[in-house]
Amino acid sequence: MHEYNTLPPNLKEVSNTYFLSQIANNTILREENRQPLDWRSKPKGVSSLRMLHFYDNTGIAIAEVRQQESNKYYLYKFGCDHEYREIFRIGLTKHYECSLCHHEQIIDSSD
Ligand SMILES: [Zn+2]
Repeated sequence: MHEYNTLPPNLKEVSNTYFLSQIANNTILREENRQPLDWRSKPKGVSSLRMLHFYDNTGIAIAEVRQQESNKYYLYKFGCDHEYREIFRIGLTKHYECSLCHHEQIIDSSD
């Protein structure tokens, strides 16, 4: 099975508010469209998933159901549920690492 036909890891439905907060606070690295075949509980009428990837290997996705009256949308997130812990700091710069996927993040608290 091609990646194009698989669901992204850890796909979970989210609220409108969560979805919008992710768009407001993240830089979108790339966009991708998939037609997953391994969808166990696919919403009725959904065939494809539009994904927005963020820099930290997570992202959000939209599934659209086209209807005559108004289209219906299902909102998701995917990727790691990061659990960051501080690994070291230099001055006001703190280095964090996710204990699950080892993604690193640097936060400068000087401003
Ligand atoms: Zn992580």
